Amino acid sequence: AKQQGGNQYQFYTTAFNIGSSDRLALQSSLRHALERHELLLYYQPQVSLKTGEIVGAEALVRWQHPERGLISPDKFIPIAEETGLIVPIGEWVLKTACQQTKIWQNAGFSHLRISVNLSSRQFSQIDLRHQLVAILMETGLDPKYIELELTESMLVHNTEVAIRRLNALKSLGVEIAIDDFGTGYSSLSYLQQFPFDILKIDRCFIHKITDNPNNAAITKAIIEMAKTLNLKLMVEGVETESELSFVCQNQCDGMQGYLFSRPLPSHDFAQLLKNNKRL
Ligand code: C2E
Ligand code: CA
Ligand code: CA
Ligand code: CA
Repeated sequence: AKQQGGNQYQFYTTAFNIGSSDRLALQSSLRHALERHELLLYYQPQVSLKTGEIVGAEALVRWQHPERGLISPDKFIPIAEETGLIVPIGEWVLKTACQQTKIWQNAGFSHLRISVNLSSRQFSQIDLRHQLVAILMETGLDPKYIELELTESMLVHNTEVAIRRLNALKSLGVEIAIDDFGTGYSSLSYLQQFPFDILKIDRCFIHKITDNPNNAAITKAIIEMAKTLNLKLMVEGVETESELSFVCQNQCDGMQGYLFSRPLPSHDFAQLLKNNKRL
């Protein structure tokens, strides 16, 4: 009980620290962010390493706050999760990303893919599949161009239920990516259990490859493992030429990173598509 008391004390002190009034303010303004059209999506190009072409985009949400400016998702997604606001926000993200992708496809980029991040609460929502069906109908986007990105922590609590949910989503024709791979509980057996299509190696692995040979070896082992399991490999956070040559040498399928482009507002992403910039 004493142990518990200690933890509680810690909880309350952090809850009432300087950041908390800030957090409360954000929480209440986040409630109105959607209806006030303050949320927007940025798109980061995903580039094929075989052709050097843009094959898709990852949709990344931002909050254009009237006083604070652009707020990063790391700051408000956790608040949205806690309050449940992630459910309408996540639905908006999915719908907006699909609508936008359909527009780009109609403009001639007919095979452009879109990756959308799902949060834990969204994934455990009973009607996520229905939501997705409605969005597919409304936007007319072919589900084979959609990738849903999930992280390991969302799947470990109840493996069986998670696998069932993943298969229910996949039966619609969408693909599933395991995001931030290597930062959590990952093991070969774990990867094998879930019906993933794509593995996204976390950027920390790529950044460390030049530090020491062990890190490069670990990253190579992950790449080999993904290939053994027939997963497509997307490397995140490629920032330098030497990181790029590493991922090319190791036959990864695709990359995203600042070296090619930062996440862009839709207008700038469209411009980049038209210029058909190559790696
Ligand atoms: P993530 O899914 O791992 O997204 C990749 C993050 O890495 C993005 O940060 C992106 O801007 C950043 N990044 C891309 N290339 C590079 C690079 O070369 N170097 C470095 N240092 N960073 C790079 P962002 O946009 O701030 O998003 C942060 C996180 O917020 C995302 O991490 C994702 O977990 C979450 N998030 C973003 N949008 C959504 C959303 O619509 N729904 C949910 N549930 N989560 C989202
Ligand atoms: Ca992601
Ligand atoms: Ca990631
Ligand atoms: Ca992340």
